[in-house]
Amino acid sequence: MPNPALPPIPLVSGALMPKVVYPDQDHLIQSRDSNFIFGSVGNGNATLTINGVAVPVQPNGSYIAFLPNPPATQPTYDLVAVLNGDTARLTRTVRLLPVMPALALDGPLTVDSSSVVPNTRLSLRDDDQVWVSVRAPGNAGVSWMGDSGITAPLVSDAPVSGSYAGDPDRWATEIAAHFLRKPTQLVITRGVDTVRLVLPAVAVAPTTPTYGMLGALPYPGPPVNDTDRVIIARPTAGGTYKWLLMPGTVLRMTGANGDFVHVSLGDELGAWVKSEDIKTLPTGYAPRPRIAENARLLPVAGAVDLRIPMSSRPPYLVEEDDHKITLTLYDTRANTDILQYVSNDSTVRDVSWTQETNDRIRFTLRLSSQAYGYLAFWDGSAFVLRIRRPPVVNPQKPLQGLVIAVDPGHPPIGATGPTGLYEADAVLDVGERLRDMLQRRGATVVMTRTTRGAVALADRPIIARRANAQALVSIHLNALPDGVNPFTTNGTGAYFFQPQSAPLARALQNGMVSRMHLRNLGVYYDNLALARPTWMPAVLGEGAFIMMPDQEAALRTPRFQTAYAQGIADGLENYFRSLGRQ
Ligand SMILES: [Zn+2]
Repeated sequence: MPNPALPPIPLVSGALMPKVVYPDQDHLIQSRDSNFIFGSVGNGNATLTINGVAVPVQPNGSYIAFLPNPPATQPTYDLVAVLNGDTARLTRTVRLLPVMPALALDGPLTVDSSSVVPNTRLSLRDDDQVWVSVRAPGNAGVSWMGDSGITAPLVSDAPVSGSYAGDPDRWATEIAAHFLRKPTQLVITRGVDTVRLVLPAVAVAPTTPTYGMLGALPYPGPPVNDTDRVIIARPTAGGTYKWLLMPGTVLRMTGANGDFVHVSLGDELGAWVKSEDIKTLPTGYAPRPRIAENARLLPVAGAVDLRIPMSSRPPYLVEEDDHKITLTLYDTRANTDILQYVSNDSTVRDVSWTQETNDRIRFTLRLSSQAYGYLAFWDGSAFVLRIRRPPVVNPQKPLQGLVIAVDPGHPPIGATGPTGLYEADAVLDVGERLRDMLQRRGATVVMTRTTRGAVALADRPIIARRANAQALVSIHLNALPDGVNPFTTNGTGAYFFQPQSAPLARALQNGMVSRMHLRNLGVYYDNLALARPTWMPAVLGEGAFIMMPDQEAALRTPRFQTAYAQGIADGLENYFRSLGRQ
């Protein structure tokens, strides 16, 4: 059914020439049951079958289908396009995930000896928990046996994630590293059968203090001082981002798991960083204890600084709450008798601090409104948390005088539609229209890209921050991961990561939905590079799905490109107007 809100799809009556845009030849399909396939046949009057299933062809010759995966015995999509008695065929070969058949519930006991986890080199402290797992039949008994005869059961309904998800035969438990210092065994039994598998020993984490410097610079040497580079630290190896630390921060290294190094944040708290992000310092290196001296609140242009003098960069965490910012400094002691601050600051109402544990300090800043933006940096002798003041907005002309960063997404990478429209080209058209609209409404626009040439993902937020932009909007077109039905999941969505950006994401979403008239998929929290900046509200729009034939065709028209740009411009204007009213 054509969407009446979209421009009509034009008729194309070219030569019959079936093409598959997705999946690529030899693509490894990531789903186990069904997947989508899209492309074009070159003529809107043609008919098409794929693996015998009739697939609608749009007037411009494009198609998309959501089909059962082809069988492992013949992993191909066979396309047959017919026009006026002429037939054209195309075969697209793909690869399928290895089948994971359920292990037999009878007969001789069979287990999967290659499935034992852990399977990487581990170096851990005694109390660190190790995920121990194996594939075994659902009606077996599975237990771990330590070297002193101590045992623990594995269970078949333990939560599993990542590549282990969806495996009905996965048994698992957690064992403290202390019990795994020698090779131990997994014992699988059923009836009279018993299978024993060896679990490799877990090495002891270094006991002599070993320190490393984040940022992987040669030592000695000046650590980089670039506020735009952060090192990501995570609560679990390979897990989600939690801390964004400064290059040059020195941390005690307390373990390893594959490509991740465990570091101490003091007082029993640890985190994981990628091994490439930390450079081991020479043996015997011992950092001076870090003491936070008297903190001060200092107004600077457009912002106010909380300045905390100390001897070296601390690991830290900034958390935002409604009208509040909390700063935690790890591995740092306070010698903060007097907290000097300007008592009538219009942005920061009040600062308080507590020594939370022996070596952890927490500062709490009460703000007069929701945080607008902040930046943490090291100035050579002090840790500075710079709190940005919201811009002064004229409610009649909300964008007047503001600096807006517009980021047309990609290249590199990016999605491609059924007739070959490339996401990066389409969003550049939208971005240029948006730039003109914002300029007409009085804003100064900074484009991260004005040509088809590639701009590195990491450079784009830096362009916005260096321009001191008051908002950053990244423009994209969506495509789905393998296995998701595109007919039920397509439309308009907006993404944010920092709480301070949520109001702008909601305004952007409302603007896009009311101008583009596609399904409202809502506002999402997602850890995207263009949504991570903290210095300004930063959001990402996925206005339409380029993989859908009708939306791709619409994106080729000035009318729909304008609608997308207008939706974003309206969203920005409404967001800043609401700031002006506060
Ligand atoms: Zn994109």
